[in-house]
Amino acid sequence: MNSILITGSNRGIGLELARQYAQQGWRVHACCRHPEQATELQTFADNTDNIQIHELDITSPEQINLLVDSLNGEAIDILFNNAGIYGQNNASFGNTDIDKWLHTFHVNTIAPLKLTEALVNNVASSELKTIATMSSKMGSMADNGSGGSYVYRSSKAALNAAFVSAAIDLKSRGIKIAILHPGWVKTDMGGPNAEIDTHTCVQQLMKTLDSLSLETSGSFFEIDGSIIPW
Ligand code: NAP
Repeated sequence: MNSILITGSNRGIGLELARQYAQQGWRVHACCRHPEQATELQTFADNTDNIQIHELDITSPEQINLLVDSLNGEAIDILFNNAGIYGQNNASFGNTDIDKWLHTFHVNTIAPLKLTEALVNNVASSELKTIATMSSKMGSMADNGSGGSYVYRSSKAALNAAFVSAAIDLKSRGIKIAILHPGWVKTDMGGPNAEIDTHTCVQQLMKTLDSLSLETSGSFFEIDGSIIPW
């Protein structure tokens, strides 16, 4: 049985990732900050025996250590760094908030790499040896035609830089990394006017991960699997 560990799996894209991988018979480690409040995830987990819920705020080194201990060396085929925040609405020129910017870097950029460092041996001992990290096309400089959004854009651009390095550094261990744009998705973050629902999004992301190889590791994938320029 393959296994996946997903951060931010109580709502949005993360919840749908947990649902679809579990429905395909995968063992799912569904991480979220407040399991007791994750009612939708709890209900789904109660009706399937292959979902295990873990408490995890990705910015907490203590909680990361507890998670590593509780996994007890179990192989993780896909580590899916999904959790993320927009950080600051109206982060326009002249209006950026330093504390919000630093917190956004912590959640969107630093925490996914620290979690990856903590779980790399679990991934290395698996069959698929895959790490997926949820970025955004808003982190692409080539795609930036509208400016603004300093906080979110820069946190995702830096995430991309970190995971390109990780893809290079971990290739010799057979680990492949996908940096993903999920499309514009109807979630709390994407809003009701977004282009696709979470079901469609996750189906596409699964296809992209299915075709990931060491040769394409470290690429920035559009939702249709094409490559996004940096
Ligand atoms: P969402 O509905 O707002 O969900 C965000 C998830 O991240 C929630 O589960 C949230 O948990 C979790 N989270 C936030 N801070 C966390 C922390 N410190 N530790 C652990 N979990 C934390 O957003 P979404 O649309 O599903 O987004 C998922 C990913 O896709 C994000 O990385 C986002 O940047 C990216 N993305 C989304 C879109 C889009 O159109 N929706 C587009 C491009 C990229 P709580 O419930 O506890 O807050």
